Amino acid sequence: MILDCAIIGGGPAGLTAGLYTTRGGLENVTMFEKGMPGGQITSSSEIENYPGVTGEITGMDLMMPWPEQCQKFGLKHAMVEVLRVSKEGNLFTIHKGDGTTEQAHSVIIGTGSSPRRAGFKGENEFFGRGVSTCATCDGFFYKGKEVAVIGGGDTALEEALYLAKLCSKVYLVHRRDSFRSAPNTVERIKKTENIELVLNSVPDEVYGDAMGVTGLKVKNNNGEIRDIAVPGVFTFVGNDVNNQTLIQEDGTFLCEMNASGEVIVDISMKTSVPGLFATGDMRIAAPKQVVSAAGDGAVAALQAISYVDELLND
Ligand code: FAD
Ligand code: NAP
Repeated sequence: MILDCAIIGGGPAGLTAGLYTTRGGLENVTMFEKGMPGGQITSSSEIENYPGVTGEITGMDLMMPWPEQCQKFGLKHAMVEVLRVSKEGNLFTIHKGDGTTEQAHSVIIGTGSSPRRAGFKGENEFFGRGVSTCATCDGFFYKGKEVAVIGGGDTALEEALYLAKLCSKVYLVHRRDSFRSAPNTVERIKKTENIELVLNSVPDEVYGDAMGVTGLKVKNNNGEIRDIAVPGVFTFVGNDVNNQTLIQEDGTFLCEMNASGEVIVDISMKTSVPGLFATGDMRIAAPKQVVSAAGDGAVAALQAISYVDELLND
């Protein structure tokens, strides 16, 4: 059976595309998601800017009902990693991690982005043994202890606030003296007594022993090294776009990309390849918000419905 639409990725973009394609009349739609649906927001300790959702809720709380809502309208979920999407003639082929393939008339891709490594000595060696990119996952291990947070964006500051509630002290290490995070978040950071700002400083080395991390050395703009004895280091230094599924056998991308590896789309989420739509964090100029990823998913779905209708009925 040829799918009307294959959705790659089950974050806010993919799930919304799933809701709109199925509810909008496409019969055979499968969402390929390698893990549990929900996307990267499920690792967030708090979300306070999704419209209409008030009160303290986690990213997991927000996303929990989304898959069920889609399944009600007939969306199928295949829990499998997609290795590659290719196109021959009018048909797309989805190459799956289990070695099998599926074919589709249209594809909506929303594989999002993943946390970037900061690149300091010891980061890879101690990753998962004291170095983490997820405060809600690993913060509890440091209850009552001191930790360091690296970064100056929204994620670093919000997760530092979360960790400050669990930990005795949070050292917030940032390479400049101003933050790119929202101003009200910066204000909350400055008002939190157990957060110490370590500015104009970059991590130089994380060190430890067989049990895990025991400390972090940071270097300031004058080249001075400060030793911070902490068992946990959380890095939030941005994200890389997950564009691997668009890489073809000859190493080129299936559609046009920009120099940062983001998919070039128009305002309808159309890529340079007819029938292929890109959504959410992986597209150019993405605001990198749950609400905009969901919006992209809806726009792409409406376009995919028209595309498939024209393809099969003209
Ligand atoms: P993602 O959420 O990244 O989802 C992509 C999905 O695709 C994932 O589930 C992944 O498993 C799957 N996938 C990837 N590759 C493959 C493959 N090859 N095969 C199958 N499946 C694949 N935004 C806000 O609006 N407010 C906030 O408060 C906020 N806080 C955040 C806090 C944190 C800690 C983080 C990390 C992000 C936060 N964001 C926030 C940003 C928000 O989470 C993202 O903008 C949004 O999730 C992007 O949605 P997406 O659907 O494009 O991609
Ligand atoms: P980001 O905005 O790209 O910030 C990354 C931070 O890490 C920057 O402060 C950067 O410093 C620093 N950094 C980068 N590389 C580094 C390195 N090698 N060593 C040390 N520091 C390094 O990433 P983000 O905070 O993950 O946010 C990503 C997107 O998601 C943003 O668009 C953000 O607005 C959005 N988001 C929104 C919310 C929300 O709306 N509440 C929450 C989370 C994320 P410089 O500042 O000097 O570049």
